[in-house]
Amino acid sequence: MEGNTRRVVVIGGGVAGSLVAKSLQFTAHVTLIDPKEYFEITWASLRAMVEPYFGERTVINHRDYLVNGRVVTSAAINITDTEVLTAEGILIVYDYLVIATGHMDPVPKTRTERLNEYQAENQKIKSAQSILIVGGGPTGVELAGEIAVDFPDKKVTLVHKGSRLLEFIGPKAADKTLDWLKSKKIEVKLEQSVNLNSNSDESNIYQTSAGESIKADCHFLCTGKPLGSAWLKDTILKNSLDNHGRLMVDENLRVKGQRNIFAIGDITDIPETKQGYLAQKHALVAAKNVKILMDGDRVSKMATYRPGSAMAIVSLGRRDAVSQLPFTTIIGCIPGLIKSRDLFVGKVRKQLGLEAHPVHA
Ligand SMILES: Cc1cc2nc3c(=O)[nH]c(=O)nc-3n(C[C@H](O)[C@H](O)[C@H](O)COP(=O)(O)OP(=O)(O)OC[C@H]3O[C@@H](n4cnc5c(N)ncnc54)[C@H](O)[C@@H]3O)c2cc1C
Repeated sequence: MEGNTRRVVVIGGGVAGSLVAKSLQFTAHVTLIDPKEYFEITWASLRAMVEPYFGERTVINHRDYLVNGRVVTSAAINITDTEVLTAEGILIVYDYLVIATGHMDPVPKTRTERLNEYQAENQKIKSAQSILIVGGGPTGVELAGEIAVDFPDKKVTLVHKGSRLLEFIGPKAADKTLDWLKSKKIEVKLEQSVNLNSNSDESNIYQTSAGESIKADCHFLCTGKPLGSAWLKDTILKNSLDNHGRLMVDENLRVKGQRNIFAIGDITDIPETKQGYLAQKHALVAAKNVKILMDGDRVSKMATYRPGSAMAIVSLGRRDAVSQLPFTTIIGCIPGLIKSRDLFVGKVRKQLGLEAHPVHA
């Protein structure tokens, strides 16, 4: 690297942040700020709950792919035009800033702690006869699918407050998913919420808003996670947040009105389904544009990002999946072939320059 190499700070070590940091590490002084020491393939966490060993491949220390960058394990709490302040009180100077704080997830700091968490969740599933899943979005549905396939003898009840499952994709996909879950003997209760304070360890009975009682030995809360943008509300970017708390970006993925601050991934206001494969595309566009600016090239040379089409695949255990394509929905083993066996884990690992199957995993 040359002596005048610019400082790029990436905030958020999720799908988007890890890839942009990895992509720029040999052309800039890259600092990655993340409250945890590792990157995690978020959508593979449900598989790791039924098969903890899977987590060995999906929980990756930032150090393993960011071999030529600095990792700061802390949350960013403020930014100025030139610096980022972390919760630990460290000030980090930047020439270019990339914000990728997607969603908040209260996960532990170290990889070992996270893997232990999977072991504990797995024990919780194994030792329960009956399991309650609260939330019928992608997390609740994928967890129900994993448990139904790996532990078919468990009695699973899924309660969702909406009128249909998977509200982020079309109603046909939701109906097909409901039929699939029922075929696996999962009881689905829609338009109800669960009062989690209503049960006691002795009774194992949960009350719903419709006055129903559900017997379950344990529960998993799978409701949506908040956006990771609350920390920006008192910063120089407070006026760049839309009503949903998303950062407004231009077609080059710079925060609107900012010269050297980019935002990528789920935190942006890009009008598209929030998906990891799109967050990865954002990362590559942002990396390219940071390089163009660092090289002093014309702004007009910057790559533009066009919103992705409405495509999503929700896995249903190890073999099946339901997929939302632009004009249709498909359920069964064909979309399952694309996602459900490996959950794109090998693909994501390779993108980070790692072996799809590490020798020790
Ligand atoms: C059940 C489920 C299944 C899914 N399946 C798929 C799929 O099959 N394919 C697909 O493409 N997408 C899928 N997705 C969507 C995908 O997970 C997200 O779109 C993707 O994770 C977004 O990436 P991101 O980097 O923007 O945010 P995230 O992955 O949410 O990462 C945000 C990062 O920011 C960090 N952070 C937060 N606040 C701060 C702060 N103040 N300072 C520093 N760091 C901070 C967090 O620690 C985290 O590392 C699925 C999602 C779910 C829930």
